[in-house]
Amino acid sequence: METMRTSIETTARGRLMAQLEGIEHRLQNEVEVPPATFAGGDFLDVAQSVEQQELARLVVSRHAERVRRLRIALARLQDGEYGICSVCRASIPPKRLRALPDTMTCVACQEQLERIAVR
Ligand SMILES: [Zn+2]
Repeated sequence: METMRTSIETTARGRLMAQLEGIEHRLQNEVEVPPATFAGGDFLDVAQSVEQQELARLVVSRHAERVRRLRIALARLQDGEYGICSVCRASIPPKRLRALPDTMTCVACQEQLERIAVR
C-alpha cells in the first residue's frame, strides 16, 4: 500500500511541477499586457487597446489562480496531506487524482462546495 501511495505522489509531483513550469513560462513569454496607447490614437484605438489590456489581465489572473492551486497541491504533497480531502479528510481516489492532480477535495465535497458557490 505504501509503495502505491508513494508512486501516486511521485507521479503527481512530476505533473504538478510540469504544469507549474508551463504556466510560469507562458506568463513570462506569452502574456504581455500591451501598453495602452492614449497618445495620438483616436477613440477607437484607445478603446481597443484598453480592451486588449483587460483581456490580457484576465488571462494573467486565470494563470495566477492556477499557479496558486498548483503551489498548494505541491505544499500538501510535502506535508503528506496530498490525496486527502481538505474538507472531510477522506482519501481521494487515485483515479480522481490522476484526472485532477491539483484537487483538494473528494467528489462529494467538491459538489457540495460548488452548490454553495452557485447560491
Ligand atoms: Zn470530502
